[in-house]
Amino acid sequence: MAGLDTPVEVRRSARAGRLILKVSEARRAATLTVPPHASLEDASDFLARHFDWLQDRLAAIPEPVPFRDGACLPLRGIEHGLSFVGPLRRRGVVWTEAGDRVRDRPADWSAEGAPPDSSSRPRICIAGAPDHAPRRLKDWLAREAKKDLTARVAWHGQTLGLTAKRISVRDQSTRWGSCSSTGVLSFSWRLILAPHFVLDYVAAHEVAHLEEMNHSPAFWRLVRQTMPRTDEAKRWLKTHGATLHRYGASV
Ligand SMILES: [Zn+2]
Repeated sequence: MAGLDTPVEVRRSARAGRLILKVSEARRAATLTVPPHASLEDASDFLARHFDWLQDRLAAIPEPVPFRDGACLPLRGIEHGLSFVGPLRRRGVVWTEAGDRVRDRPADWSAEGAPPDSSSRPRICIAGAPDHAPRRLKDWLAREAKKDLTARVAWHGQTLGLTAKRISVRDQSTRWGSCSSTGVLSFSWRLILAPHFVLDYVAAHEVAHLEEMNHSPAFWRLVRQTMPRTDEAKRWLKTHGATLHRYGASV
């Protein structure tokens, strides 16, 4: 659409009752759903009327943060600097180093990004060719996510007497976690960026689905039984969840 940096995907839908314009923060894209009775002219009128709204919504999406030397990344909610260290190897290909600060700085979840003083924060070091560093970092983050999620799923499962068949960690943009009817729990690797209690809540949520495949009061009772910070975690995801998608989006 003229004047917009982002293309608007137009989708015909037999089931839609009206024109619907949606912005996906995770994909940085807009979709216009067109019902059968609307013409393309109706659709473009509708877009023109909502142009300002759309522009504001798109502008409000936080800038992506590619995995780059010197970039800033939250790990378990703590701000880390990224260092691509070349051929040097210490503890494998990716490792963390503590910062000089007395207390680690919690990540800045606002759209402004990293604070200016970068020297003293903890670091994630990635060895090897810089071209491969983003992929290596992403693989490492997914493994760390799987480690934390496996431990927390086991803990919640033990408390509730429920066992997951398998845990898989993937790059899914629409949901933080899901539970299949066969007992396989899937999670987004990006949960490792969030504060630990948020990952813990999503683990508890999916474990509770092993017993209750719905969001009934009985389900929420199970979740709260093992996760007292449920409301706080839900609020966190509502407010900051979308910002987790700005990191390493293109890897
Ligand atoms: Zn659920």
